[in-house]
Amino acid sequence: LGKSLRGALDDLRGKSRIDEEDVDAVVKEIQRSLLQADVDVDLVMSLSDSIKSRALDEEPPQGTSARDWVLRIVYEELVELVGESTDLPLENQTIMLAGLYGSGKTTTAAKMAWWFSTKGLRPAIIQTDTDRPGAYDQSKEMADRAEVDFYGDPDEDDPVKIAREGLEATESADVRIVDTAGRDGLNEELIAQIERIEQEVNPDRNLLVLDAAMGQSAKSQARDFQEAIGIEGVVITKLDGTAKGGGALAAVDETDSTIAFLGTGETVQDIERFEPDGFISRLLGMGDLKQLTERVERAMEATQDEDEDWDPEDMMEGEFTLYDMQKQMEAMNNMGPLSQVMDMIPGMGGGIMDQLPDNAMDVTEERMRDFQVIMDSMTEGEMENPRVVGKSRIERIARGSGKPEERIRELLEQHKMMERTLKQFQGMGDADMERMMKQ
Ligand code: GDP
Ligand code: MG
Repeated sequence: LGKSLRGALDDLRGKSRIDEEDVDAVVKEIQRSLLQADVDVDLVMSLSDSIKSRALDEEPPQGTSARDWVLRIVYEELVELVGESTDLPLENQTIMLAGLYGSGKTTTAAKMAWWFSTKGLRPAIIQTDTDRPGAYDQSKEMADRAEVDFYGDPDEDDPVKIAREGLEATESADVRIVDTAGRDGLNEELIAQIERIEQEVNPDRNLLVLDAAMGQSAKSQARDFQEAIGIEGVVITKLDGTAKGGGALAAVDETDSTIAFLGTGETVQDIERFEPDGFISRLLGMGDLKQLTERVERAMEATQDEDEDWDPEDMMEGEFTLYDMQKQMEAMNNMGPLSQVMDMIPGMGGGIMDQLPDNAMDVTEERMRDFQVIMDSMTEGEMENPRVVGKSRIERIARGSGKPEERIRELLEQHKMMERTLKQFQGMGDADMERMMKQ
């Protein structure tokens, strides 16, 4: 995937002019990745047209290589495709969730409530699902776990009445999240019902919750909900699975809305605000594209900063220094667990992570913070070549960082383990790689 896109881009290396054939090759790889990620064909085609016409018609800024210029256009058009994050002011509001059965509404309600609580607001969940037995208990339990207010009534079978009473009961909350029963657009009775709930609640925003695995039908579902209640934002759930969530883009397009949140697991903390960069990287299965395109901006500003030039791919080729490890840790802070970061490096996705020893990438947050402090106490020479760090240097670094010597040994161990792991991949031919990826 990302590997072949990278390849097509690399073919542009050293060229000063771009011809149609070059652009076609890049566009073909992007199409392949996006279609595999379930992005709607029409969206992919219109993106392709924009990239092609811009790459051939527009003049690159002075001093920018053809490769960097195309990369920049690709990135800008992808941002245009996925959109910005839904605007969510941190103020009093009521949000209603809608979507199919099992799409993740109830889980998302609790996650969003938890998220708002971390922003200093007081959230409450109002549970109006009277269809599913157990909906009340599930929702109440998740609200408890998120430590937020909850209203529901297991003995009442009119969701409109529950909604009305729920609004009264949660008056002291800042953010009210109204969960609804699952339904699809073809069920007229249930669509009429959600229209009545929406009239009663009069929410500030309706969010459509979509499973990342939702493919082509996302579009028609979105249209039905849009007609019934109006959709102001989309939540994509289950992105911790193999699906990349590209199907949801058709829903975004259809409702003329944006993506608000991403769900990445089953616990109440497994929620992220949508950010275009990370999502694009996931869609393409390619490392941080934005970082790469910043080269063009730097050329425009005519500034050079060695340190900013770090590219995860360099790590796959040369020595693995403590600087690389530091960058990995920073990247992790921005992107999530290292296993996911590794997934984004071309050729390292999918099954390869499963082949690693369990503890190879195990860096807990606390250790990571300690490692950062320790690295700040190390010299450039030690960072470049950690092998020189012996007993007396460990003592010095421990004094300088205020961390126990044991932690410094752990850091050195961790570095060695990561280095060894990467060496294994470097030693591998493409054929070995392919075989591993297929497993
Ligand atoms: P609802 O029917 O729309 O309310 O969906 P639920 O919130 O009950 O979720 C359906 C199932 O999907 C449950 O088993 C959830 O634990 C699971 N689920 C929801 N969101 C996520 C997610 O982001 N990741 C994973 N792995 N599972 C999720
Ligand atoms: Mg539910």
